[in-house]
Amino acid sequence: MSIAENILRFRESIPPHVTLVAVSKTKPVADLMEAYEAGQRIFGENKIQEMTEKWEEMPKDIQWHMIGHVQTNKVKFMAPFVSLVHAVDRIKLLKEINKQALANNRVIDVLIQVKIAREDSKFGMAVEDVAALFQSNELDNYPNVNVVGLMGMATFTDDQRQVQAEFELLEGLFLRFRESANLTILSSGMSGDYKLAIDNGSTMIRVGSSIFGAR
Ligand SMILES: *Cc1c(COP(=O)(O)O)cnc(C)c1O
Repeated sequence: MSIAENILRFRESIPPHVTLVAVSKTKPVADLMEAYEAGQRIFGENKIQEMTEKWEEMPKDIQWHMIGHVQTNKVKFMAPFVSLVHAVDRIKLLKEINKQALANNRVIDVLIQVKIAREDSKFGMAVEDVAALFQSNELDNYPNVNVVGLMGMATFTDDQRQVQAEFELLEGLFLRFRESANLTILSSGMSGDYKLAIDNGSTMIRVGSSIFGAR
């Protein structure tokens, strides 16, 4: 199936309250434009330089989401235009996003990445640390950052029960702080596990290979 057909297929198959982020990392602008022509306006990238190059080249009504791990010293390059940063996993990064958002006269929306996978390779804050952050007044120190939700990545495994348990953990944390911390976005689910993620409260799925093909 073509990229355009895949976009339309996802549109029809996911519930209306779930937002589709088309993960276009490593793909050429021509592929992104095919998705754009099919109506897609939200794209996810995992490298700041690549996202910036695509932002410069492509239509300006696109919302660019940084879904990957962010190096503190590169925040300044995306601060003028990034629409949502998914993987904030340390206070030092919040501080730098706040600083660069202020320099650009913006308030930047971010998600806190929660470590839900058992694998060591996945980034994210421990569940207890996220809870402590929301129970503290720490976020008041960063008025140019707006924490709008949580993001998580499940373990890459065929064991559906494990993936289910990890998404449940994430949803539990989301529901616990949704009202007090004003959270509206739960970013979870990729090509292989988005259905399970949606069953467990996801409001934003990040889909790459099922739209653009293998990388
Ligand atoms: C690459 C990536 C995705 C998309 O993965 P697919 O399996 O290609 O759908 C989602 N989230 C993050 C953080 C990624 O790096």
